[in-house]
Amino acid sequence: SHIPKVVILGAGYGGLMAAKRLQKELNYNEADVTLVSKHEYHYFTTHLHMPAAGTDKLENSYVEITKLIDEFKIDFVKSTVQEIRPEEKKVVLEDGALSYDYLIIGLGGEPETFGIPGLAEHAMTIRSINSVKAIREHIEEQFKLFKQDQTRVDRLTFVVGGAGFTGIEFVGELADRIPELCREHNIDRSLVKIYNIEAAPTALPGFDPKLVDYAMKVLQDKGVTFKIATAIKECTPEGVLLATEEEIKSATVVWTGGVRGNRLIEQAGFEAMRGRVKVDEHLRAPGHDNVFIIGDNSLMINTAIDRPYPPTAQMAMQQGPVAASNIVASIRKQPLKTFTFQNKGTVASLGKGQAIGVVGNTKLTGFMAAQLKKVIDIRWLFIIGGISLALRKGKFF
Ligand code: FAD
Repeated sequence: SHIPKVVILGAGYGGLMAAKRLQKELNYNEADVTLVSKHEYHYFTTHLHMPAAGTDKLENSYVEITKLIDEFKIDFVKSTVQEIRPEEKKVVLEDGALSYDYLIIGLGGEPETFGIPGLAEHAMTIRSINSVKAIREHIEEQFKLFKQDQTRVDRLTFVVGGAGFTGIEFVGELADRIPELCREHNIDRSLVKIYNIEAAPTALPGFDPKLVDYAMKVLQDKGVTFKIATAIKECTPEGVLLATEEEIKSATVVWTGGVRGNRLIEQAGFEAMRGRVKVDEHLRAPGHDNVFIIGDNSLMINTAIDRPYPPTAQMAMQQGPVAASNIVASIRKQPLKTFTFQNKGTVASLGKGQAIGVVGNTKLTGFMAAQLKKVIDIRWLFIIGGISLALRKGKFF
């Protein structure tokens, strides 16, 4: 008899959790499970602002996938997905193809530039291990180059486009790293400028205004200049041009101002809004009972406020196991589970020892929030790799 084939695309927060749930729930020979991801490692996207700024080692942001899954139960394939063909129940990889009976799509997001000219060409983005390695090396290089030609103050000007979650977290780390780099290269701190530019009327849209004020104050005290309600009109090789006609000359522009779902989603013909598919209550794509879409590729409406939930790791790691259980239920012809999101709170770090957070109705700031952030990070390490991974990669102090 035919053994159903399950294929999971992407070993991010969602895909990894789905794989772990399948390996736990499936009986011997009940299904063949293949996990496909671009790199041989799973990386902690929520941690990337640190190695990007150079405040933590890159090694603390990723772990080999084969250390996290049971290779007797899950077949891991390191490859890049090039096309999803739902009508043929097939995915095309860079080096072959896979057919499936059930598919889980968890390919994550990619930067959205909203068509702002020059951003795609001249700005860097925090999106993968390779991209943050490039940002870190680029920043360090600017200090060296400035020493060679001290008229080039643009080399000591850093522009971060976007004051959402990622932008704020990155700016906090960058502000911590700058004094270190100044000491190392014997450069006056006052020559260095950090701009955080946001088109929306507020930084951290969606956060409590009191917490937003707190966050901005912490970052301003560390030397960050905010330009809120100010759009970037263009990014050039020399820096950015703002809607106010002001030009900021900068050799480093990091764009965190927008995310969208992976483009493969639209190319597959799924009805999507910026790469996110509005899934049903069982996490299935409309019209495709065998395709489950999770994490940044999915879109769910928060009925309490009638707006989509923001794409978060928290959402992805809750959806993964439910999608997996629903595949097991589909195979066994049992009723499917309904997904409901449980908001466990949100914490944004503001650099060393500082953060803001909301847990239920409680607002947290400062040291307490920063500790909570560490607990969240370590909890993820524990969930995927047990105590040994938590001890190896967790930052306890
Ligand atoms: P991802 O975790 O992005 O995983 C997608 C996987 O698919 C990756 O392994 C990728 O390599 C792989 N992949 C992509 N394309 C292909 C392809 N073509 N072929 C094969 N494999 C592919 N969320 C929170 O909840 N809390 C936070 O504190 C938080 N902080 C953040 C900080 C930063 C700096 C950033 C950038 C994001 C943060 N987020 C946070 C958001 C969170 O990281 C994402 O929502 C989450 O990673 C989405 O999980 P996912 O499983 O959908 O995708």
